[in-house]
Amino acid sequence: MLKEIGIGVAVAAFTFFFLQGINLLPLLFLCVLSYFLYSLSGMKVMNKGFQGQVPSKSKRITFADVGGQENAKMEIREALEFIKDSSRAQKLGIRPLKGILLAGPPGTGKTLLAKAAAAYTGASFVATAGSEFVEMYAGVGAQRVRELFKGARELARRENKKNAAVFIDEIDVLGGKRGQHSGHLEYDQTLNQLLVEMDGISTDDEVRILLLAATNRVDLLDPALLRPGRFDRIIRVELPDKEARLQILKLHTANKPLAKDIDLEDIARQTFGFSGAHLESLANEAAIFALRGGEKTLLQKHFVEAIDKVMMGEKLDRRPSDEDLKRVAIHEAGHALLSERVRPNSVSAVTIVPRGEALGYIRQMPEADSYLLTKQHLEEQIQVLIAGAIAEEMLLNSRSTGASNDFNQAARLAQRMVFAGMSHLGIVDQDSLPQNLLHRAVTRILRAQEKFVTEELKGKIHILRLVSRELFREEKLSGESLRQFIHSEDKPASQVSWG
Ligand code: ATP
Repeated sequence: MLKEIGIGVAVAAFTFFFLQGINLLPLLFLCVLSYFLYSLSGMKVMNKGFQGQVPSKSKRITFADVGGQENAKMEIREALEFIKDSSRAQKLGIRPLKGILLAGPPGTGKTLLAKAAAAYTGASFVATAGSEFVEMYAGVGAQRVRELFKGARELARRENKKNAAVFIDEIDVLGGKRGQHSGHLEYDQTLNQLLVEMDGISTDDEVRILLLAATNRVDLLDPALLRPGRFDRIIRVELPDKEARLQILKLHTANKPLAKDIDLEDIARQTFGFSGAHLESLANEAAIFALRGGEKTLLQKHFVEAIDKVMMGEKLDRRPSDEDLKRVAIHEAGHALLSERVRPNSVSAVTIVPRGEALGYIRQMPEADSYLLTKQHLEEQIQVLIAGAIAEEMLLNSRSTGASNDFNQAARLAQRMVFAGMSHLGIVDQDSLPQNLLHRAVTRILRAQEKFVTEELKGKIHILRLVSRELFREEKLSGESLRQFIHSEDKPASQVSWG
């Protein structure tokens, strides 16, 4: 505001003197020059001040705030004992750890773990991200690395602490393999500076620094960073299993009024593949649904609706034409029937209410977290994926573009089967397998599954029609009502081969 008033006054004064015949151009030139010099010095100050972010004291995170990740927590704690009780470590001649790298998918709690690690050692904590070091100007990144470490030491001195933890999120942005970036000299200088700072950490330092870093892509990091003596520990931070999901849900619902009948275990079961960040968002969305519904407590239905929202996105306002809706209902009924066929009781909901990118979808309930997939399991997944398009073809005599995403996923699964030695090619070398052979093997798998699904649905065309009609009418069917409907409407068929 002051700036605008100043500019206004200056322009008015300049015009007044100009009309009086006084030439103010040299003065104007001087003003512009001083402003330019002032800005440059300001930039310097900004650069000098680059010291990462210090989290506010009220939000101190501890290991109790991190749900699951027991292995990661145990490994970090063990590593930190050397810092906490450095005299014991010194007696045994153990050199202190310089760096801990947390590697894993997004949203799994790497930043939380780094904060908890700092709190555990009682160290000062500064956090920054790899992207903060990426600048067009040569030398700025390297200077920022120097200032980050210097700033962390100063902070620890101010806080009367002997240890400081420096956390760099997305370290792959700054620590990628050298010589691979287009403006690689600047990148390389920045990484070199980080290596120099890490090598400079020693037991005798007045303030000992521990570097914590996180990445989703360890494979991109320069090997020099990963060699022992720099990042001494690489700790995997994985997606949570069911037990961990339950713990995370409990943490994020602790401050929310839950109805008595809430079954968080059921929600944890239904959220296979969710990260901690997904679960935090799920709890938040459930509370928003409760607010929208004018409820005082969060009900199970709010969580169920929130799962759909987190998985698929917000409901869309636009309603497709009846003709499209009918096609979507047939498509989804095809998926749902096949899913119940290959794994009874696997559908938890099927809907044709458009959400995010999808016009309709089925939600499947995983029985247990499984990390190894058998050939049969992969084939069944492919069958469920392609059943939508085949159902459309059977009842409407044509397919639609709605199935392209299903086909993409099915092809990816088929490719996985080929690389796992499950195709007619037997064991193959993924790197040297010619594209045409891969294509042929993938096509062969897809064709076989297509034949199987066509046969299956042919025998159930009556039930397919009934379920899609019901879905078109109701817009959403729960797994329970879908199964009841299948069994009550088609008793003879269910007795012969369903389930
Ligand atoms: P990215 O790789 O994208 O930087 P990240 O692994 O560092 O992600 P965090 O930033 O630690 O993930 O997590 C994001 C949010 O998700 C946290 O603030 C927290 O609310 C929630 N969260 C993630 N993991 C957990 C967990 N294990 N326990 C509790 N909350 C979690």
